[in-house]
Amino acid sequence: EGALYVVATPIGNLDDLSARAVEVLGQVDLVAAEDTRHSSRLLSHLGLQVSLMSLHDHNEAARVEKLREIVAAGQQVALISDAGTPLISDPGYRVVRALRDAGLRVVPIPGPCALVTALSAAGLPTDRFLFEGFLPARSGTRRNRLNALSGMTATLVFYEAPHRIVALLEDIAAIFGEREVVVARELTKTFETFLVGSAFQLQQHMASDDNQTRGEFVVMVAPAPERKHEEHASLEAEQLLMTLLDE
Ligand code: SAM
Repeated sequence: EGALYVVATPIGNLDDLSARAVEVLGQVDLVAAEDTRHSSRLLSHLGLQVSLMSLHDHNEAARVEKLREIVAAGQQVALISDAGTPLISDPGYRVVRALRDAGLRVVPIPGPCALVTALSAAGLPTDRFLFEGFLPARSGTRRNRLNALSGMTATLVFYEAPHRIVALLEDIAAIFGEREVVVARELTKTFETFLVGSAFQLQQHMASDDNQTRGEFVVMVAPAPERKHEEHASLEAEQLLMTLLDE
């Protein structure tokens, strides 16, 4: 029976590749990869020779039908991205969706994911979190999005690229003020760093040290404080009293 294996690969440290991932990558007929040059390095590091097919944001729609046919014909395919778990701010959703719609087997091979890795060691609440991936590139649209999220009583998680990290912290400072922010940088790599403070403090710190703006980042913002019921009720009573007094 054919199957699509959705295989997580390391986000920095190669030792994080699971034994099961290695086994699957060694068994499949084809590996669909975001960047075939990047992934062929990983596969040759593992001593594996597998056919590669490219699958990225710009050709995914066209590849969907092809992959559906291949799996329907009984072949085993692995889907990997450049780093971490496919589909998480990475291509693959349309393929998985199409295969599921066709009643074909899709098997997850779990492993590294920057969002979960960052949350697991940040010290922010994890009972509820909201993953936003990459925010819009333009500051105006980004601030609108941040504004819409500012009342969420869940930890907010963002991905950001090095050339926009300081600008993102500026926007978070403008919208969230003193709210606690944790920046996880270079997870699982040599220069792994967790920075904790207000967005303004972190932005100052990074702007003063170029090394801190290099690498890969997960940015987390503490939840908005829970509005207690009594607090809410007494606020309403107070407002009613004010209105009555006015009249
Ligand atoms: N699919 C990946 C995953 O499972 O996390 C995410 C892919 S997304 C295109 C790349 C972004 O993930 C980076 O810009 C960064 O925000 C985050 N990221 C990936 N690896 C990271 C690492 N080692 N440390 C911190 N952030 C990382």
